[in-house]
Amino acid sequence: MRLTTFILGAAAGGGFPQWNCNCDVCRLAWAGDPRVKPRTQTSIAVTTAPNESSSPGDAPFVLINASPDLRQQIVATPALQPRGLRMSPIAAVVLTGGEVDQTAGLLTLRERGPFALYGTAGTLSTLAANSIFGVLAADVVPRKAVHPGSPFALPGGIEAELFLVPGKTPLYLEGDNPELEAETDANVGIELRANGARLVFIPGAARLTAAMATRLAEADVVLFDGTLFSDDEMIAAGAGVKTGRRMGHMPVGGPDGALAALAGLGRRRILIHINNTNPILIEGSPQRRTVEAAGFEVAEDGMRIDL
Ligand SMILES: [Zn+2]
Repeated sequence: MRLTTFILGAAAGGGFPQWNCNCDVCRLAWAGDPRVKPRTQTSIAVTTAPNESSSPGDAPFVLINASPDLRQQIVATPALQPRGLRMSPIAAVVLTGGEVDQTAGLLTLRERGPFALYGTAGTLSTLAANSIFGVLAADVVPRKAVHPGSPFALPGGIEAELFLVPGKTPLYLEGDNPELEAETDANVGIELRANGARLVFIPGAARLTAAMATRLAEADVVLFDGTLFSDDEMIAAGAGVKTGRRMGHMPVGGPDGALAALAGLGRRRILIHINNTNPILIEGSPQRRTVEAAGFEVAEDGMRIDL
């Protein structure tokens, strides 16, 4: 049995290119420049396949987060398409937070298809407070609260564990003075284990804690927050007024960025949740070369990881 992961989408909220953006990076994508590949918003699908060469076959799939692009992602991924009349292989969805780009795809999963929905108590209470998610009827889509730090079983023989990651509450729930590096159950990472293989997925992190570093050191694959290359990137691009840290994301570059913090942790390191202003999206850019020289990969839609 293998642990197989499909990168359904690798972009941050808004996707790449973003519908209303003509920044230096989006402009290349709108023009069809071969140095950039469009990306949908971040979500991954995991499953257990009998062996490396086989297709996932009958094994169920678990989605980690449900992006607004989920329908498009299913269309692009044959393994996620129905296997019979009203019979989807998607057996569960696990949420690592309640942001729009983590939850809006749940609305695509209405139509009374059964699956289990997992999240922290905080994230599930965020959903419960939004009546539109009532389209997922409780008798068809049970909601299961899981405690960070407590392993739980997912369909297909996958063991999972949520863990606290410094971050902030979803943007639409922010007050005037949000806490930016709080370790609450509003923002978590997830470790997925099967047959001794370990994959860790952290789409948003304000910083790397010692506990996270210990966990990542043991991982075969780390999928980590690559939202912005530099903290003031959106301001410099004229695309926003917030720093990365204000949005709950540590930068990729710089002395306190992800490249430095994750050096040597995990066997394979892949940046994901990449904002459309981030020049690492451009193959051959100085920032992309910096990332690659540090031993990191840049996630793209359609990547498959077999462990
Ligand atoms: Zn842009």
